[in-house]
Amino acid sequence: MSSSKYFTLKEARLSNNCPECYSNDGLELTFKQKLKETKLFKAITEDTVCNLYCLKCEVEIFPIRWDDDIDRVVDYHKRALKTKPKSIKLKPISWILITLGVVLLIAIILFTTGIISVN
Ligand SMILES: [Zn+2]
Repeated sequence: MSSSKYFTLKEARLSNNCPECYSNDGLELTFKQKLKETKLFKAITEDTVCNLYCLKCEVEIFPIRWDDDIDRVVDYHKRALKTKPKSIKLKPISWILITLGVVLLIAIILFTTGIISVN
């Protein structure tokens, strides 16, 4: 029923050498923030992920392959990263359900207090 998606926060080209092809103009660092979507709402979470991709050799460079220089640059970008604040956005179906709930609650109160009677 719910799915997790990621949206791109920031992309940066690094001038570090690729550990695979040694090219120094192919590395691209991408930061993504996690989005949770259900039928009722869409929420931005605080979770972020980053991945490093080499456009030259077209492979993802996993952290295990990073050298100290890459670590340092990624760390620097991570600190400068501005994430979107946590938030929840209700979908129209939620508002309909909430409205129905409120209407039902008012009806129950009116009936139980005798303001409206069925006779
Ligand atoms: Zn490469």
